[in-house]
Amino acid sequence: MTEIERHAYDVVVIGAGGAGLRAAIEARLQGKKTAVISKSLFGKAHTVMAEGGAAAAMGNVNPNDNWQVHFRDTMRGGKFLNNWRMAELHAKEAPDRVWELEHWGALFDRTKDGKISQRNFGGHEYPRLAHVGDRTGLELIRTAQQKIVALQQEDHRDHGDYDARLKVWAETTVTRLLKDGDRICGAFAYVRETGKFVVFEAPAVVLATGGIGKAFKVTSNSWEYTGDGHSLALLAGATLLNMEFVQFHPTGMVWPPSVKGILVTESVRGDRGVLKNSDGKRFMFEYIPEVFKSQYATTEEEGDRWYDDPDNNKRPPELLPRDEVARAINSEVKAGRGSPHGGVFLTVVDRMPGGAAEIVQRLPSMHHQFKELADVDITKEAMEVGPTCHYVMGGVEVDPDTAAALVPGLFAAGEVAGGMHGSNRLGGNSLTDLLVFGRRAGLGASEYVDSLAERPVVSDETVQAAADEALAPFARKGGENPYAVHAELQQTMNDLVGIIRKEGELEQALESLDKLRDRVANVGVEPVAVNDGRGYHPGWHLALDLRNMLIVSEAIAKAALERQESRGGHTRDDYPGMSPEWRKVNLVCRLAGDPSSPRVELRRQPMEPMRDDLIRLFEGDELKKYLTAEELPAQVAGKQ
Ligand code: FAD
Repeated sequence: MTEIERHAYDVVVIGAGGAGLRAAIEARLQGKKTAVISKSLFGKAHTVMAEGGAAAAMGNVNPNDNWQVHFRDTMRGGKFLNNWRMAELHAKEAPDRVWELEHWGALFDRTKDGKISQRNFGGHEYPRLAHVGDRTGLELIRTAQQKIVALQQEDHRDHGDYDARLKVWAETTVTRLLKDGDRICGAFAYVRETGKFVVFEAPAVVLATGGIGKAFKVTSNSWEYTGDGHSLALLAGATLLNMEFVQFHPTGMVWPPSVKGILVTESVRGDRGVLKNSDGKRFMFEYIPEVFKSQYATTEEEGDRWYDDPDNNKRPPELLPRDEVARAINSEVKAGRGSPHGGVFLTVVDRMPGGAAEIVQRLPSMHHQFKELADVDITKEAMEVGPTCHYVMGGVEVDPDTAAALVPGLFAAGEVAGGMHGSNRLGGNSLTDLLVFGRRAGLGASEYVDSLAERPVVSDETVQAAADEALAPFARKGGENPYAVHAELQQTMNDLVGIIRKEGELEQALESLDKLRDRVANVGVEPVAVNDGRGYHPGWHLALDLRNMLIVSEAIAKAALERQESRGGHTRDDYPGMSPEWRKVNLVCRLAGDPSSPRVELRRQPMEPMRDDLIRLFEGDELKKYLTAEELPAQVAGKQ
């Protein structure tokens, strides 16, 4: 057998973004020997790129804000398909998690009276995003890392070893979850630098691997977001929920081609930025959907007044939820009113009272990004922007309170978990999702470990099977180039399963993915010159990632074909309306068939009715837009 290191832990956390770090901190605080693994460098996760802020109803800027309003906004944003218990826990616990970060050393921007400042964002009724300029995710990760170092220093003091109870495994990629019977018993990984294999023996594994963006051609996601956690969960026998819901952020860079897809934060619009078409018109006023009509301004004057007097004016439609704005931009471009490079214009020029200096102060990263990457000075010129694949709402089906997946010993939190955001995530809700459910996953995993009478065992056979699978691309002499196969997969997803979907195209996508299955199984790579041919070998890494992207793509395309309605991050050209009947349905995926070439199987699962006290937080007229007549509480339906 190939030489393989083995290390034993109580809890292994896969992913070192916000969810993973928060889970690892919690497991360690619960006294568990914990490993946290990341595919990229430690500190380089998507969380670090989060610009706008962390949504928490602290009520610092507008005292009317509270968890109930946040819960309502989240459910509206998700078009009532959210797991309402997750949305409730999130809205209730988010402020504590933000305050906790401050206790650990985070430095948020302040209001004039010294409280944590909160900014406006799409879909949030009140200013709610705690932020650090437009670098909030960086501060979150910096703070969590600082906490980890502090815990490691304690461990060094007590055990003479910094890694005694919490070790970071950077640049280490998990390719399989390992099982002993029905239970999780660990994870199999390779180390990027050396290509060497490592087995992590652990009764509990927390998936915190983030998103799937690299399955699409135009994306704000970076190289490591290949749907690994989603696919690892399926391969281990767990289920995924509502994978059809993919968020296309309305504002990605469109030019130059090398940076196409890179995010332009929503804070630009939250801080008075407006969208215009090639006629110079603020077109979003034409695209306010019926369900939101009462909450958004109908004139530019009112929209502009809202920034200074939000209590007496309605918000501008540039701040509609992301799915609405992305579709509107798509329509403008299709109608021939786009910008020269196929987007629309987003401008802050002359929009801030403090002029150019305020733009640079409020949006430092955006100013830098456009200057460096596109030679555009956003204090003087408009940005060109268009939709980009940004976030996946679908993910591992978990218990809301413990983050446990269906497989004993498996937990999931953050973007890889499903349910919390329903059909569309509100900006800023991810960062607090990571903290709330990262903590809960760390707790859930620790409690699970405590409950075990005996620990599961990692057998040599399972390890050998995982090693053989990882080495297979080297054995395929004359196999296909993984980059060519990846490019085709991304093009297929972009063209046929993108922002606007139709039956015929989705069927075509599934046929193409079927053909790609054989090609993925046949990708081959040559050894490189160092470390047994496997050291720093991006072609090999991609060859392994392709399995994950293919599985996730199939899950998205199948679910998108099945759901015959348009809701949030799933728009069907052939079923443009939102259907109350479909709102009652979760689409659940699992893998079935030949284990060497498994297929995604879909099941319709009824949505659990919302608890009575929560449903009563909404006005009857609003509920009527989402629920079927039978679901409406008695008094709303006029039965009392
Ligand atoms: P991530 O932060 O994505 O981390 C995933 C981790 O898993 C990484 O460490 C990665 O290396 C690791 N990993 C993946 N696969 C493997 C594997 N096979 N083996 C080992 N490790 C693996 N949300 C907000 O709320 N507010 C914002 O302002 C905001 N802005 C954003 C801006 C950008 C440009 C992007 C891309 C996203 C933004 N989001 C924002 C969304 C938010 O940042 C992400 O959804 C969130 O950070 C995901 O966190 P996570 O902990 O789930 O995973």
